[in-house]
Amino acid sequence: MPFIDIHTHHQKHDSEVISIFNVLIGKNESLPIGDNQYFSVGLHPWFIDEKKFKSQLEKVEKLAYNHHCVAIGETGLDRLTKAQMSLQQKVFEHHLIIAQKVSKPVIIHNVKAQNEILEVYKKTKIDIPLIFHGFNNNQHIANLILKRGCYFSFGHAVLKNGSNASRLCQTIPASRFFLETDESETSINTIYEIVANLRNITIEQLKEIIVENFKNIFTSWK
Ligand SMILES: [Zn+2]
Repeated sequence: MPFIDIHTHHQKHDSEVISIFNVLIGKNESLPIGDNQYFSVGLHPWFIDEKKFKSQLEKVEKLAYNHHCVAIGETGLDRLTKAQMSLQQKVFEHHLIIAQKVSKPVIIHNVKAQNEILEVYKKTKIDIPLIFHGFNNNQHIANLILKRGCYFSFGHAVLKNGSNASRLCQTIPASRFFLETDESETSINTIYEIVANLRNITIEQLKEIIVENFKNIFTSWK
């Protein structure tokens, strides 16, 4: 049973890990090489270029059809970055339309904008699942996301005692979460170990849960 790292910015080659490398349009557009290597592609709110966003989105769309691409994103809304919210919303909406076309889930970057993200999701009426990555928000926000049928991905924040992530990764329904390393140097094995401990299950049981969720959502995989 493999470990699955659904969101990473590091290219890794480990036969025990299925990892999804995040291709950042406008920042790092190189694709991972190798058979066990998959990727997601998106225009992150930090790298939206006001003058070039249309061609940036064309790149996203083109790569979205690649068969090693298993998800769209990270994309989303970020209240603390320089790109205007109206432009971010337009770009985000476009990602959802691409995701619907290629039938691949969307990895969400959210900074203080979950209401707006869920609003755009509702407006576009897509039936593609959203995964709120690096989740470390409170129970109230988790409830909003759960209610809309979306998913969570927990990363290195679970290592911090008392963090939202370390609490919520214990109670989020088994069918609704994934794990990731994102930018951190912590290995996915360590993240599994911590979460298995917190949920009071074995690493093997945790692997089974995540593989099951992965097969359900990442339907283009293999
Ligand atoms: Zn990331």
